Amino acid sequence: MKTNQLQAENISVVYTSKALCRDCYRCVRVCPVNAIRMKDGQANVVAERCISCGTCITVCPQNAKTYRTEYGKVLQMLEDKERLAISLAPSFVSYYSEWERSRIPSALRMLGFSIAAETASAAWHTAMATAEHVRLNSDKPVICTACPAAVNYIRSTMLDLIPYLAPVASPMLMHARQIKAANPGIRFVFAGPCTAKKDEERWKTAGQNIDAVITFEELDELFRLRNISLQSCEESTFDSTVNGLARLFPVEGGLLKTGEIVESQFDQEILSLSGAEEIAEVLEDLRKHPKPCVIEPLFCRNGCTNGPVMHRGSNSFETRRLVLEYAQQHPGSDATDEIIAKDTNAYFPPFSESKRPVFSEEKIREVLGKTGKLIPSDELNCTACGYKTCRDRAIAVLEDMAEPEMCMPYMRRLAEQKADTIIERDPNGFVLLNSNLEIIRMNQAFKAMFTCSDSLAGRKISYLIDPRQFELLISGKDDTSREFNHYPNYNLMCHTIAYKLPEEDQIVGLFIDVTESKSSKDKLIELRSETVQHAQELIDHQIAMAQELARFLGENTARGEVLMKNLIDSIKK
Ligand code: SF4
Ligand code: SF4
Ligand code: SF4
Repeated sequence: MKTNQLQAENISVVYTSKALCRDCYRCVRVCPVNAIRMKDGQANVVAERCISCGTCITVCPQNAKTYRTEYGKVLQMLEDKERLAISLAPSFVSYYSEWERSRIPSALRMLGFSIAAETASAAWHTAMATAEHVRLNSDKPVICTACPAAVNYIRSTMLDLIPYLAPVASPMLMHARQIKAANPGIRFVFAGPCTAKKDEERWKTAGQNIDAVITFEELDELFRLRNISLQSCEESTFDSTVNGLARLFPVEGGLLKTGEIVESQFDQEILSLSGAEEIAEVLEDLRKHPKPCVIEPLFCRNGCTNGPVMHRGSNSFETRRLVLEYAQQHPGSDATDEIIAKDTNAYFPPFSESKRPVFSEEKIREVLGKTGKLIPSDELNCTACGYKTCRDRAIAVLEDMAEPEMCMPYMRRLAEQKADTIIERDPNGFVLLNSNLEIIRMNQAFKAMFTCSDSLAGRKISYLIDPRQFELLISGKDDTSREFNHYPNYNLMCHTIAYKLPEEDQIVGLFIDVTESKSSKDKLIELRSETVQHAQELIDHQIAMAQELARFLGENTARGEVLMKNLIDSIKK
């Protein structure tokens, strides 16, 4: 969790920690609204498109996706001794253990909240208002949900379905309105498992009612910063009256069940959905065949108990069981009428960025062509780039959301072509053999060295050179062998490196021509022996001279002779 604050509307709730991103496209693959722009190997969230669902947070293997926090703002309000109320989403039951739950109300009061309440108390009113809306609109489709990510999804990608959204305030907003109406001047904080709720806080409908939205992990951070340990808190209860059924809101079908919409609307098709794919599928169908029905979508698979900021790795059926069990064990009572908010409405305008540019077929084909997709069968639709189809990626390239290099098969082909060029242009000889030592491929340098052509492909290497080095490599344990070889037929001396490609069951031979350097060495040796020979001639001459002089002068020439011999020895070395 990063220490930063949610401030302006145009800043996305979810964003990427660039230093951590490793360019793996997993977030691109799962983002339901294509809100991730790949640029220079970094996955950036485009705020105008992002629906704040947090799906990318849950899949990023590098923890590079994170969300903007507000616990600092809450801490400030606490330090300023503001009167604060906190509303805890019903999924807290699956975030905290049983003994922790019983101490949470005391811990919240110790933090400084004047009111510690369960959002479920307002959820019941949301359910009642929704049931009424369904009753009045039984001749058309109704999409009812407390999930802001599902609402955002419709607002951004399926504008024609916006009129079917039940215009009812979510439990969070309903609770904020209730608490503020009953406690003038109080400030309202919501805590939950959800990043999209942070976006809902900024919707115009929220008005001035919601002062901060934090996640359960941010709440834990507040406890930590204020040295509040749940172990040392006493058991206590919340300041709210809850109808037990409303505690089912975080699981699939919870709203319908609380509003008894299931039982009372037998004549309609009633569906509760969860997970982006299922929602997309059903809503697409609804667009094609709008018919009377009631649909309750929750964007996270299995609902809020599997929200983006819940404990990772927890079993979603187990977390669901905890919610059901808690609702059963705490049936509560109907909330009293006095605290029902006067305004139960909400409205959902389309996203400002919902109109996406349309590109001509010619432009799309041009981009496809740049990555080698010239005919439809070239379009592999392999999804390696993160997009469902090659065409989707081409459109994303035109929208400046993707880069051509994201096409993996194209990049692999490019890399293979580059490798081919490198091999072809290598000044050293290259030969590829199969396990029978038959030639598969030769580069230009090899063909020039051994005066042969591609017509030898398929022939044994023994046709050209002594194959012993390769035979020993095949029968031996080593994967590589290095030898210095003389090929007199070709007037060649080579360092030959041979190595196995075990997966391909092939052998590579590299021939480094050292003929030139070998003959240079020979020339040096020749030069040295010539020098020694000249020195010997000189010494012989000197000795002859010395003997001649000695005869005249009678002097001993032994000393001069020794000196000259020393000179000859050092030259020989
Ligand atoms: S999932 Fe997205 S943000 Fe995370 S490393 Fe991969 S590309 Fe980067
Ligand atoms: S939060 Fe959701 S919409 Fe936003 S970038 Fe991540 S996956 Fe896409
Ligand atoms: S299902 Fe619940 S946690 Fe997930 S996005 Fe919707 S409201 Fe948030």
